[in-house]
Amino acid sequence: MANLLDVDETVRQILAEIERLPAETVPLPAALGRVLAEDVIAAESLPPFPNSSMDGYAVRAADVAAASRERPVRLPVTMDIPAGTAPERALGPGEAARIMTGAPMPDGADAVVPVEQTDGAWTVGERQSPAPFVAVYEAVHAGANVRPVGEDIRAGQTVIPAGAVIRPAEIGVLASLGRAAVPVIRQPHAAILATGDELVEVHEPLAPGKIRNSNSYVLAALAATYGCVPLVIPTARDTLDDTRRRFREALAQQPDVILSSAGVSVGAHDVVRTVLDELGEVRLWRINLRPGKPLAFGQLGGVPFFGLPGNPVSVMVTFDVVVRPALLKMGGRPDVVPMAEAVVGEDIRVDGRRTYFRVRLSREGGQLIARTTGTQSSGALLSMVLADGLLIVPDGVRAVNAGDRFPVRLLRDIGSG
Ligand code: AMP
Ligand code: MG
Repeated sequence: MANLLDVDETVRQILAEIERLPAETVPLPAALGRVLAEDVIAAESLPPFPNSSMDGYAVRAADVAAASRERPVRLPVTMDIPAGTAPERALGPGEAARIMTGAPMPDGADAVVPVEQTDGAWTVGERQSPAPFVAVYEAVHAGANVRPVGEDIRAGQTVIPAGAVIRPAEIGVLASLGRAAVPVIRQPHAAILATGDELVEVHEPLAPGKIRNSNSYVLAALAATYGCVPLVIPTARDTLDDTRRRFREALAQQPDVILSSAGVSVGAHDVVRTVLDELGEVRLWRINLRPGKPLAFGQLGGVPFFGLPGNPVSVMVTFDVVVRPALLKMGGRPDVVPMAEAVVGEDIRVDGRRTYFRVRLSREGGQLIARTTGTQSSGALLSMVLADGLLIVPDGVRAVNAGDRFPVRLLRDIGSG
């Protein structure tokens, strides 16, 4: 396939022209799923003060060293320390302070005796003063049931590195450290444009010769899946005027990337090419990929542009192989593709192009077996729904026989059984 471009080389060339977007600041709740733009360095320690991990009595461990059920140690209760208060003074020798979970330890105390190990039961939910004395039934070691300053996080520590994707746990750390606003990489805004006279919209009835536009929806869903904000532009008709108008409309949205589908293959669709040449610089490539040979890449009005094929499965495969890595780089996200290796369960015809077969996977005798989902037509979208993965047959392979092993790009979680 001498006149077809190598897929990996094409991706490398494209990535060399794509830059990561700058940072912006968002309110903490909006940071979920976003990519942290700067290291988060703790300005404070967590917890910020030593506190009790139990409801009970703060004591000096030495004072209750001899305590047992048979011979409890009786101590005067000289303070009450609910959560959210600061102790009025230090605890003296031979004293106890009633203390609640999360309340600060008074100076002088070094351990907490849980209430269950005392006679000091109180009515839950009522703010009663503690009894004047408490009987301690068990000894505790120094430090018992006390959370020291910085047990979780020390001031000055880098707690989350730049580039991390913010999950609920990171949200919790950011909240604990008082970060109401979070610097994150800007999400790429992806303008999505379908082209074709045969297309009607999802709510419209079919008419002779028409099909519904699925590519715009798929591309919007894929873009969102990889952290972008999709901006769907109304479908361009196959006329110079309408195609020009719609591409201008796309540019007016000030997107970070433009994704179009159809009309870039060779043939009678020269309107798209004419408009692309007017508005930017676009290279039309034929890449060594099946499905999805025709691909355009370049810039329109300075915005990176991908012209994808029209066939729905080709759109999904070229997006996955070529566009996805570019969008991830723009958004500062790591490119991790879940892969497996599978044994082919049947003979498959190939033609030497790198081919992505839609396959179902099953575990048989400790091996992962891949069988095609049926028709591999590049228009058969249901095959993508049925597929557990894409079996990748590299370029140059002339025959695939049952028993051969190939890598699989997983499309759903198949567990690890
Ligand atoms: P083209 O690249 O224009 O030759 O289109 C290739 C095939 O993809 C044709 O069968 C088109 O009808 C189909 N197609 C193009 N655009 C879409 C779309 N937005 N949704 C679904 N199918 C499409
Ligand atoms: Mg067309």
